[in-house]
Amino acid sequence: MKSHFRLIVLGGGAGGISTASRILSKKKDLKNEVLIIEPGDYHFFQPGWPLVGSGEVKSEATKKPMEKVIPKGARWMKAFVDSVDPVKREVTAGGKTVSYDFLIVAMGLELDFDAIKGARESLGKNRVCTNYVYNLVDYTYESLKSVRTGNIVVTKPLSQIKGGVSAENSIFTMDDFVKKHERDVNVVFRSGRPEIFEVKKYSDSLVEQLEKKNIDYKLNEELIEVRGREKEAVFQNHQTGETHVVPFEMLVITPPMHGPDALKGSGLLDAEGWVDVDPHTMMHKTYTTVFSLGDASNLPTVKMGGAVRQQLPILVDNLIQRMNDEDPTHMYDGKTACPVATEYGELILAEFGYDKIPKETTFLDQSDDKKLFYQFKKNMLPYMYWYGMLNGKS
Ligand SMILES: Cc1cc2nc3c(=O)[nH]c(=O)nc-3n(C[C@H](O)[C@H](O)[C@H](O)COP(=O)(O)OP(=O)(O)OC[C@H]3O[C@@H](n4cnc5c(N)ncnc54)[C@H](O)[C@@H]3O)c2cc1C
Repeated sequence: MKSHFRLIVLGGGAGGISTASRILSKKKDLKNEVLIIEPGDYHFFQPGWPLVGSGEVKSEATKKPMEKVIPKGARWMKAFVDSVDPVKREVTAGGKTVSYDFLIVAMGLELDFDAIKGARESLGKNRVCTNYVYNLVDYTYESLKSVRTGNIVVTKPLSQIKGGVSAENSIFTMDDFVKKHERDVNVVFRSGRPEIFEVKKYSDSLVEQLEKKNIDYKLNEELIEVRGREKEAVFQNHQTGETHVVPFEMLVITPPMHGPDALKGSGLLDAEGWVDVDPHTMMHKTYTTVFSLGDASNLPTVKMGGAVRQQLPILVDNLIQRMNDEDPTHMYDGKTACPVATEYGELILAEFGYDKIPKETTFLDQSDDKKLFYQFKKNMLPYMYWYGMLNGKS
C-alpha cells in the first residue's frame, strides 16, 4: 500500500463512507487517492437497532460486509487508528504510518459502559439489555417477550449520546407491547438529563405522551450501578447527590458516551474530548487540512445519522474549496432529525437546527405522532441509507 494519500478518512461508518463516496463522485482525480481507515468487518445501520429491540426488524438487516460499502476508487486499510499527528499530517494505524494532504475524522464515539459499576458484566444476562451493541440487540426483544411482571427500567445518561432519542423509542414501544399483551408490567424511565427534550415543541408532546400512558419518569437521575443478579439499578440524582435503588425485571441501558480515545493528545480535540471544528464549515479550528462530522465532532447538535446526511454535502463542498486553496464558504445550520416511535406504528419526527427552532420537512405537524412517519423510518429510511446516503447523496 502507498504511504501517502491526498485524502485520508478515519472511520467507515455513516459519515466516513458517505463523504468518501461523495467526494470521489465529484472529483474524479481523487481515484485511488482516498484511504479509509476502519477496523470493522461490517458496516451497521445503527438507526435500525431500536426497531430490532422492539422486534420490528431482523438484526441481520442492519449490517453489510464493509467491503460492500467501500466506494469504488477508495482504498481500505482494516485497522484501528492509534494516533494522528496533524502537524506532520500523519496517521498511525495498525503499526503503519500514512501521510495525507487532507483528513476527514469520522470515527464516531466511544460507549462508556465502564462508567456504570457492574454494567459490562451484567449485559446479556438477567434481562440487562442495550440497543447500542449489535450483538446484544436481539437480546432486548427476547427479554421483552419474556417479562411478565415488575418494572422495565429504561435509562438515559447526562452525557452527549448518539441516537439521542433511542431510549424514548424503547419506553413507548415497550409500554405498547406490555399493554397489548396484558402483562402486569410498568415501564419506568430514568434520565440523567435535566429536560425531556431540548426543543419545547417536541418536549411538550413527549411529556404529554408520557403522562397519557402513565409512565413513571424522573429527570436528573443517572444510572451508576447495575446489580444484575439482584435485579437492582442504582441511580444518583445530579442535583441532590442522593442515590435511589429501582428494582427491575428488565433494564435497557443507554450508556454514557465520549469522544474518540485514539485522538487524545493529538491536538484535534476540544476540552470535552470531541473533535474541535467550526460549527458551520466543519473545518478544524486549528488545522485547516482537517474536517470532521458526525458523532466524533463537537458540532453542537443532536448526534444522529439524520444530522450526518445534512452535514455531508456541506463538508465535501468546503473540503473541495480547501483543496483548491480557497476558504470554505458553505455553512451547516445544525439541522438534525430525531424520530420517536410513540407506539408500534406511530412516530413523532423532531427536526430542528442550532437555533432549536423546528425545521420540519413535511407540511404536517411533526410533533403529532403519525403512521406515515413510522413507515418512513421502518421501511424507507434503510433504503435511502444503503442506496442513497452511503453513495454520497444527501
Ligand atoms: C441505538 C441507536 C439508535 C440510533 N437511532 C438513530 C435514528 O433513529 N436516526 C438517526 O439518524 N440516527 C440514529 N442513530 C445515530 C447514528 O447511527 C449515528 O449518529 C451515525 O452513525 C453517526 O455516524 P458517524 O460516521 O459519525 O459514526 P459511526 O456511524 O458510528 O461510524 C464510526 C466508525 O468509526 C469506526 N472507528 C471507531 N474507532 C476507530 C478507530 N480507532 N480507528 C478507525 N475507525 C474507528 C467504527 O468502527 C465505525 O465504523 C442511532 C444510533 C444508535 C446506536
